[in-house]
Amino acid sequence: MTERDVVIIGAGPAGLACATKLKEIGINDVLLIERERKLGGILNQCIHDGFGLHNFKETLTGPEYIERYLEKLYKLDVEILSDTMVVNLFPDKSMILSGPWGREKIRAKAVVLAMGCRERTAGAIWLAGTRPAGIYTAGVAQRLMNIDNYMVGNEVVILGSGDVGLIMARRLVLEGARVLMVLEKLPYSSGLPRNIVQCLEDYDIPLYLKTTVKKVYGKRRIEGVEYVRLDDEGKPIPGSEKFVKCDTLLLSVGLIPENELSREAGVALHPVTGGPIVNDTYQTNIEGIFAAGNVLHVHDLADMASMEGELVAEFAKKYLEGNLPKVDSWIDVKAGAGVRYVLPHKVSRKIDVNFLFRVSEPSRNRYIIVRDGNRIIKRRRVINLHPAVMENIRVKADEMKDASSLEVMVE
Ligand SMILES: Cc1cc2nc3c(=O)[nH]c(=O)nc-3n(C[C@H](O)[C@H](O)[C@H](O)COP(=O)(O)OP(=O)(O)OC[C@H]3O[C@@H](n4cnc5c(N)ncnc54)[C@H](O)[C@@H]3O)c2cc1C
Repeated sequence: MTERDVVIIGAGPAGLACATKLKEIGINDVLLIERERKLGGILNQCIHDGFGLHNFKETLTGPEYIERYLEKLYKLDVEILSDTMVVNLFPDKSMILSGPWGREKIRAKAVVLAMGCRERTAGAIWLAGTRPAGIYTAGVAQRLMNIDNYMVGNEVVILGSGDVGLIMARRLVLEGARVLMVLEKLPYSSGLPRNIVQCLEDYDIPLYLKTTVKKVYGKRRIEGVEYVRLDDEGKPIPGSEKFVKCDTLLLSVGLIPENELSREAGVALHPVTGGPIVNDTYQTNIEGIFAAGNVLHVHDLADMASMEGELVAEFAKKYLEGNLPKVDSWIDVKAGAGVRYVLPHKVSRKIDVNFLFRVSEPSRNRYIIVRDGNRIIKRRRVINLHPAVMENIRVKADEMKDASSLEVMVE
């Protein structure tokens, strides 16, 4: 069985950034594995611009953004196995690969999980009614239109206001379809505020909040949907049902980190993010298995997934060299009032930490607070908070060194 220093599973923005960084900082034995023929992950189908503002200080399309990393990757001579899927991952960091050449078992000293996420489907949301053609997840429609040049429909209803759905609303209009409405069960959109403006308002596409699809109609092809208003508890309001004729329904109802391999290896997963539980070195409960990007928690910006990949590269190098801090006791970081989840989940208090978190609901003029019991360690004023936007607050090791508990909250 071949032994490798670092194996990265998944060559999206997180895996590519991790692989290039590892090479740049002197780790030579790096193997990047990707199940698709083409490297780049989801960004290959994201042909709109807006990528790279943080990492390259310019606005790029998804494929252009990936190209920047590929140039570096080839220059640094990173070893790549594409068209190859990791089908099993074991706790001793051995794994089985399957590719056109057959199957092989290899082992790594360090593994970086960078498998991204997948979309929730009609089955996952218990959509009532028939199952005709014309129902797509927004990401599948994005792939069909942007890569396969296949127009998915003409009269479209979108269920869910996640970013992929919003971006597809604009894309469909640009390709000549009519997007009749976007329905969202929450009292606010689950997409980025800038996407609401640029993808819906600029194209006069109505967004109906606290509204959902009650039933799908159609035999061979979808013919329409019945939608209904929801009360404050999220229950359908009787009598508020309406029917709209359409030939396509797009679902943008959430992304799920792809963690079958992590689970098989015994990696503990977080109930809210669906991704691995990690400490402040982005290491999971299995020593030497790290995680970065959407497999860990769903990012709204690919730039951030790449930055996480680079950060993990630094920690994986320290791990290989035996230079990670020795830790006797970890502190669990609690998501306090107004916070849905915080990452990392455990801190040693020996290194500086940039806490990443999402709030539970939109609000204005608040303070983000990191505290140890009643002692406030850090406090920062914010004007706008929205669940679709990932927030962060940095805390230095020195500021946490005497802490016996840690909580990130909004006040
Ligand atoms: C459908 C969809 C559409 C999106 N559209 C946009 C958008 O328009 N704009 C935007 O800003 N953001 C968008 N995002 C979010 C953005 O793409 C992500 O933030 C970013 O791609 C995350 O990077 P990643 O490397 O973590 O994951 P990914 O880009 O998903 O890459 C993960 C890679 O891992 C590979 N992989 C998974 N399992 C295995 C395995 N077992 N073996 C080998 N390889 C494996 C996958 O094939 C994939 O290439 C979208 C996300 C999704 C899911």
